[in-house]
Amino acid sequence: MTTVERPTVAPGRLFIGGQWRDAVSERRTEIIDPATGRTITTVAAAGSSDVDTAVAAARAAFDSGPWPGLAPRERARVLLRVAELIRERADELVALESLDVGKPVALCRPVDVLTAADQYEYYAALAQSMDGATRQPGFPAHAYTRREPVGVVAAITPFNFPLILSSSKIAPALAAGNTVVHKPSDETPLSALAMAAIFAEAGLPAGAVNVITGTGSDTGEPLLRHPGVDKIAFTGSTATGRRIAATAGERLTPVTLELGGNAAHIVFDDAAIETAIAGVIKGFVFNTGQFCMAGPRLLVAAPVYETVLEALAGAVPGVPVGDPFDPGTVVGPLAGPRQLAKVEQYVAKAAGARVVAGGRRIDRDGYFHEPTVLADLPASSLVIAEEIFGPVLTVQRFDTENEAVALANSTPYGLAAGLQTRDVARAHRIAARLHAGIVWVNDWAMLDPAIPFGGVKDSGFGREYGPEALDAYTRTKSVVISL
Ligand code: NAD
Repeated sequence: MTTVERPTVAPGRLFIGGQWRDAVSERRTEIIDPATGRTITTVAAAGSSDVDTAVAAARAAFDSGPWPGLAPRERARVLLRVAELIRERADELVALESLDVGKPVALCRPVDVLTAADQYEYYAALAQSMDGATRQPGFPAHAYTRREPVGVVAAITPFNFPLILSSSKIAPALAAGNTVVHKPSDETPLSALAMAAIFAEAGLPAGAVNVITGTGSDTGEPLLRHPGVDKIAFTGSTATGRRIAATAGERLTPVTLELGGNAAHIVFDDAAIETAIAGVIKGFVFNTGQFCMAGPRLLVAAPVYETVLEALAGAVPGVPVGDPFDPGTVVGPLAGPRQLAKVEQYVAKAAGARVVAGGRRIDRDGYFHEPTVLADLPASSLVIAEEIFGPVLTVQRFDTENEAVALANSTPYGLAAGLQTRDVARAHRIAARLHAGIVWVNDWAMLDPAIPFGGVKDSGFGREYGPEALDAYTRTKSVVISL
């Protein structure tokens, strides 16, 4: 296993128009290591005048810069160079992302860093096949469509997967010829700044991507409201998503919303129990449960209910929780005090539940909580109904397929869902009935840049990944020539 050292991180500045600069106000935000509670570094806290400068830089790079006008092959070359630099600097990026978010290095390398490289490679290829179509009208004319970039994209991302959730916006946006202003989470902005240096080194023209760090209210709000922004790509909580949609509605700015989730994971009585347990555990401890597509609601068929609980009671306490920089760690800390407090509040609300595993905060520096399994809660419990965003699994029993589907679809969310069964027909039948943008069968968190995902209901709308993501960053124009 590769050893990664805790890095020392220089103070972060804003990256605007290809230049590093401080916020006009000179204000700074402290960034905390969630594994120790100590300050890592500080970053600039952008305000509305910094937002103006960043949007102006992106606007100039779109309106008169070379990026949108470059041949798709040339854009692809730059994106491939970005991917290459991510791979070359994988150790540095793994260390930074692990330090900032508390992600185990063993998870961070394949999941966060190498997937980000894959995303740039994937969209480099698609940049070269964004063809329009010819159409045959019912009158003498030659008609064809063009796929054009939308313009300046505001990309706003959450704390939990900083690198991949920014790449999943910036890579397709750039591939389509747009320019970008990225506002990462104020809690975990470090990899976004490292990526700014990579963009510059890869030869991206000045202003094509700008990175401004700051809070939702001081930086995010003025960015959303800016008249120079043509498209908003947001990932974050449903509550923030509603505000963003309302603001976008005022200016009719197109918006993609990737929001919260609370997925059900169904174990049928014909499931391979060992495989199912591995999938269930992965589904709720992956990224310390801070995963929009986590599977925190386990639904188990009555005949195997006690068997599954027994297996979880045996396996969950053995999941290695600890220092993210220990290569054997599977579960790190929550990303910060607000995330830990939220988990503790929900576990406290579960008084009366059968505690199958865990249940407590871990008594050490940083923001650690035991992976926790709670059974026999009433179906109406808020612990089941709401998104906890931590390593907590609730378990409910069902008798029939219809009951399983009804329970799975019973929350307002609809991002992911999963099921464990050896019956192929049942897998297809249930997958079709689940309210979710992605359904996994017999495993969890199988993601790839080629596979689209996104939400239904309160989990938002629009799709990231896959060729579908390019739809969010292009507009179709029809040209009709009289013959
Ligand atoms: P959050 O909504 O608090 O913040 C997300 C981003 O929005 C941050 O950059 C924040 O600074 C910014 N922001 C906050 N208020 C804003 C405002 N008024 N205007 C503009 N920007 C604003 O979310 P979080 O706590 O960082 O992330 C966790 C949430 O994100 C969870 O609900 C999770 O399910 C969701 N999430 C969804 C997906 C997905 O793909 N659907 C992926 C990851 C996380």
